[in-house]
Amino acid sequence: MIELRNPTEIEQMRPAGLFVAEVLTALTEAADVGVNLLELDGLAHRMIKERGAESCYIDYHPSFGAMPFGKVLCTSVNDAVLHGLPHDYRLRDGDLLSVDFACSVDGWVADSAVSLVVGTPRPEDLALIEVTERALVAAIGQATVGNRLGDVSHAIGEVARAAGLGINLQFGGHGVGRTMHGDPHVPNDGRPGRGLRLEPGLVIAIEPWFLATTDRIYTDADGWTLRSADGSRGAHSEHTVAITSDGPLVLTARS
Ligand code: MG
Repeated sequence: MIELRNPTEIEQMRPAGLFVAEVLTALTEAADVGVNLLELDGLAHRMIKERGAESCYIDYHPSFGAMPFGKVLCTSVNDAVLHGLPHDYRLRDGDLLSVDFACSVDGWVADSAVSLVVGTPRPEDLALIEVTERALVAAIGQATVGNRLGDVSHAIGEVARAAGLGINLQFGGHGVGRTMHGDPHVPNDGRPGRGLRLEPGLVIAIEPWFLATTDRIYTDADGWTLRSADGSRGAHSEHTVAITSDGPLVLTARS
């Protein structure tokens, strides 16, 4: 079911968006060569406690999960691109790290992700990250009243294709509200002018993610982490966006 939020509710969602942005900023500043993924998870966990927020991930236990997730963020390194389960791993020079974080503040959820390179970047990794960020900006630009969901999805696909990247449609964006995953599903490719008509009050997470040389993924033995089929690296960019009569409002914008 698609739920629309009134302007008061959109205002109530702002603190969650700001907090998620604050945590991701702290994580991008903390992520460095030699830093353990468990330390990043610990930092986010402390910030959640101090804020009185609630993790969306720690008890997350969908049908495909072997057990509850148990951590408060997803840390996907190199050939891992989504749902990376934080584990005892120290970041190495040149690692491409994607961090995905969602939590609930005052009963409202925000969800956002960012990719970065620690230490010395490879140009191709910076280029891959730039494409996901550009696809996200393009999609947000289409998240306007009167457009259709296909316009948002198509904007992502168009950027990927122009960059010569494949698109995997198994995972995409989603409605965000009282819970992390609601309707509608927001695919990372689609046909312009098709699908749900966008109305004021629709709040969606838009999340392009791409792999350098494949569109196929597999699940790691940890039961969660999704890796590229060919070992190539992945990147992921995500914002929670409210569609308003004044245009798209990026609730998780980082200053
Ligand atoms: Mg997310």
